[in-house]
Amino acid sequence: MSTSSTRVLIAGGSLVGLSTALFLAHHNVPCILVERHPGTSIHPRAVGYYPRTAELLRTVGVEEAAKSAASGFEKHTTRAGVVSLAGEVLFSKEELAGGDDLADLTPSKLLLLPQDRLEPLLRARAEKLGADLWFGTELVSFTQDDDGVSAVLKGPDGDQSTVRADYLVAADGPRSTVREALGIPRQGRGVLSRHVSIAFGADFAPVLGERRYSVVHVKNDTVTGILVHDDTLTEGTLIVGYDPERGESLDDFTDARCAELVRAAIGSDTVEVTVRSRFPWDMAELVAERFAEGRVLLAGDAAHQIPPTGGYGANTGIADAFNLAWKLALVLNGTAGAGLLDTYEQERRPVGLYTARQGSLQLALRSQTATAQERAATDDAMTVTMGQAYPAGAFVAEKEAGALGLTSDPRTLSGRPGTRAPYVVLERDGAPLATLDLFGTRFVLLAGEGGQSWAAAARTAAGQLGVALDVHRITADGDQQLSDPQGRWADAYGVPAGGAVLVRPDGIVAWRSADALPAGEQGAALTSALRRILAR
Ligand SMILES: Cc1cc2nc3c(=O)[nH]c(=O)nc-3n(C[C@H](O)[C@H](O)[C@H](O)COP(=O)(O)OP(=O)(O)OC[C@H]3O[C@@H](n4cnc5c(N)ncnc54)[C@H](O)[C@@H]3O)c2cc1C
Repeated sequence: MSTSSTRVLIAGGSLVGLSTALFLAHHNVPCILVERHPGTSIHPRAVGYYPRTAELLRTVGVEEAAKSAASGFEKHTTRAGVVSLAGEVLFSKEELAGGDDLADLTPSKLLLLPQDRLEPLLRARAEKLGADLWFGTELVSFTQDDDGVSAVLKGPDGDQSTVRADYLVAADGPRSTVREALGIPRQGRGVLSRHVSIAFGADFAPVLGERRYSVVHVKNDTVTGILVHDDTLTEGTLIVGYDPERGESLDDFTDARCAELVRAAIGSDTVEVTVRSRFPWDMAELVAERFAEGRVLLAGDAAHQIPPTGGYGANTGIADAFNLAWKLALVLNGTAGAGLLDTYEQERRPVGLYTARQGSLQLALRSQTATAQERAATDDAMTVTMGQAYPAGAFVAEKEAGALGLTSDPRTLSGRPGTRAPYVVLERDGAPLATLDLFGTRFVLLAGEGGQSWAAAARTAAGQLGVALDVHRITADGDQQLSDPQGRWADAYGVPAGGAVLVRPDGIVAWRSADALPAGEQGAALTSALRRILAR
């Protein structure tokens, strides 16, 4: 039996596993990903990626490719309440949960792109950056000890091999065998309903005319479900429910039955339908009670199963991976203590619980069963995805200002540690530069007018701790490398004159100097903050 070794082994190569491999490769962490299917997903499950996810993709050089792959979907809207695609409108609602009004908050936009189109882009970029992706390979079993994880794999030809890694990331989906092997229970409202997604080929053009939809809710005597079509107008997915308690099962969905349902959803008896595949899935609100056990970390649906009604599952899983990758990188290269990895669960599990609940609330809203209390508790998608405010974790909390809740309004983010670093457009050599584009691999210290001494402080801290740390001084007048012609950044980040703010590699604010410290104290203050953040 052959044996390989790597720093991180990733089980599962769908959206979250591929994102984990990509983000780790971006941080130069050697990793092996194993996916039991021979290639990326053939099912177009997730179709919407919120601007925060697009920002993460931007950081690793995938946003442009994703935007261009999504260009065919730009005019697609969602529609609730029609008899069929060709039929009567029961109640009219056309919307695009776009975030197009967010130009002041983010340089990125909502991406409408089926999962089976995004995954190959993640795969290509991850491989380009050096990640080792083994498709057709299953993780069969694993053991862990104080120094690492040993896994048994089964390859495409059925041969077994072993891999030794420092850490295992389980991105193996809602039925995660890794989570089950660890005996980690899940909490939540459980499975709410069972569904099957039917992928099919059909000619949508005659019935659609000029209309384009990402999601259409249909309801008639034959079918109640959700219809999705792609930008070629030749491929679609129909999502329908079934109820085992009423004696229904997956076996009921023969090709003939699926084609009948599709024709009823399209509203045409004559359209030719080719059923390609069926994908069963559960609508569930379930969150793992622990996101880590020793050297094994859970990410994506393995950690939290979220009703897809709000479109949060993949977005949350990709954000998990982004949170985890820099922490693994710094622990593995010795810059951080292993305690930094404890903050993964500390930060992401509350988000998992909150987001799973928000998915359920969206379900109640859309099925028109929400109580007044539930309506009041439902946050908008931008708050859910961009306003995440960690209650505790790898940052120096400003306790005197009150503990952070789980979310803040992303429109009023103010640079508080534990929240996303606000977006401000600066200038470098006369060209616009988004603050977001300063973050990605290293810690970044931003100082403003009167903050000349922070460069020396950063040298002291970086020298003492061996941390990769960039320093930028931002001034109004433009005679420095970075200027702030709109005079926004200091207010946006809540940094006093002569103060500074430290941003983590994942674009989350880590620490702020509350006051303009004397130059002689800045190095010690920054070093102490970094020590806490890095668990040293
Ligand atoms: C109909 C539908 C629509 C959705 N729409 C949206 C949306 O618009 N936006 C959104 O954010 N989310 C959406 N979601 C949710 C989203 O699809 C999931 O959250 C996302 O796919 C989770 O990704 P994952 O990689 O964690 O898990 P999965 O996609 O479940 O992938 C797990 C992978 O691990 C592999 N695997 C499992 N065990 C092993 C093993 N032992 N060895 C090797 N490989 C293994 C599996 O083959 C699989 O490829 C939707 C979901 C559904 C069902």
